[in-house]
Amino acid sequence: MDLLLIFSGTFFFLFFIWFILVSVNEKEYLAVKRALLLTVIIPGFYFLPVALSFGGSEILGWLLLIVGWGFVFMLLLPFKGRFKLTAETARKRYDERDTMFSRNEITHRPELQKHYYETNPDKIDLDKPWQKKPGLMSEKSLFYSAISFTAADASFFPIEQLRPFVDGDVNSKKKSFDSAKMTNFLSNWAKKLGAVSVGFCEMQDDHFYSVRGRGEAYGNKVKANHKYGIALTVEMDKDLLAAGPAGPTLMESAREYLNSGVIAIQLAKFIRELGYEARAHVDGNYELICPLVARDAGLGEIGRMGLLMTPELGPRVRIAVVTTNIPLEVTPRFPDYTVHSFCSICKKCADVCPGNAIPKSKIEMIDGVQRWQVNHEKCFAYWCTSGTDCGRCMSVCPYSHPDNLLHKIVRWGIKNNWLFRHFALKMDDFFYGRKPKPSKIPGWIDFDESGSHLKN
Ligand code: SF4
Ligand code: SF4
Repeated sequence: MDLLLIFSGTFFFLFFIWFILVSVNEKEYLAVKRALLLTVIIPGFYFLPVALSFGGSEILGWLLLIVGWGFVFMLLLPFKGRFKLTAETARKRYDERDTMFSRNEITHRPELQKHYYETNPDKIDLDKPWQKKPGLMSEKSLFYSAISFTAADASFFPIEQLRPFVDGDVNSKKKSFDSAKMTNFLSNWAKKLGAVSVGFCEMQDDHFYSVRGRGEAYGNKVKANHKYGIALTVEMDKDLLAAGPAGPTLMESAREYLNSGVIAIQLAKFIRELGYEARAHVDGNYELICPLVARDAGLGEIGRMGLLMTPELGPRVRIAVVTTNIPLEVTPRFPDYTVHSFCSICKKCADVCPGNAIPKSKIEMIDGVQRWQVNHEKCFAYWCTSGTDCGRCMSVCPYSHPDNLLHKIVRWGIKNNWLFRHFALKMDDFFYGRKPKPSKIPGWIDFDESGSHLKN
């Protein structure tokens, strides 16, 4: 038995040492401190009976072995528990004019705004609170910093310049290809261009907006005439996001809107040159709801915060989509309802949300879809206060940890075992904090005297 106790103590000791090394690399210093404590306590339980050899240590030893390894065994059993969504498809298409971006844009277009509130009087009172705030990227906002806001603007600028290229002429000489090989090519090429994940689906009616709500296309009906959707994700930098709601999170959002948009524009141009219609859907120029297309293309599930939760990086991604008529192979989707099961117990995003915009309630049936509904007006009101797109919810989500071996094991456990799900949540709270504070603004950004660090 002594050998078993020494083996167990050594195993847990090495596990925590590995955890500490990973956490140092991830700059998770609270996790390092707490793991150091456990590196002493847990292996100590196993070494102590051997070292002391006191009377009754035999019984204690067996007890420790049974409890410790029994618990590990229980965590590894393939028992997912019951949780299944019964309705995922909306009955009607969403009008882009109802989005916060659209309602914000028309504050500069009085005729459109007048018409919007005449037809949507219920939105007048809902919009008053955010309309009184300084506004997105405003110099008067809480986290204004000339450096990070201007850097974000410098990434938004090329996106705006690229918007006219989302669509274009189609080569009249159509070429024929094997659809499986073309799908494989597009997937691999998009990844070479910087995508983390790529999926293909048949477009559904509810993927598309009914009416456009941005820019020159405001009020235009969406045709929804492409058969396939190609959804791709790009990773958002963990450190910049962790500084949110301060300026770096806005820099990172803008950078990834640009990166994902450029990839989508390249794919669409390529397909049009082969003789097939293709349109890229990029920041400020969407005809569809990206997370829904990405979900149906097998890239993840929609979680409590209303964003796509990918298996690799959780919500810490940006999405772009290409719609097209080139024949493609659809990516099979295997719905992962363990995400919803985890969200139903987690609520971490709701706890940290400075805008109090994320519900803590059970999943609900809303407009025929089983989901959680973020209060967009409250979220946007906070954006108009902070001047940034905040991103606290994304940053603290337990699925947002880096895609390394440690977190892959945790994600595997969350997916496979009901008890692991509960245990992982407790451990996430213990190591990273239930309400983790935003990280400091990285030093290479925080040299701006107009910055938020002076105001807080
Ligand atoms: S923080 Fe928790 S509740 Fe919120 S989306 Fe992530 S897993 Fe779900
Ligand atoms: S972005 Fe910020 S304000 Fe909006 S839902 Fe997430 S945490 Fe809340």
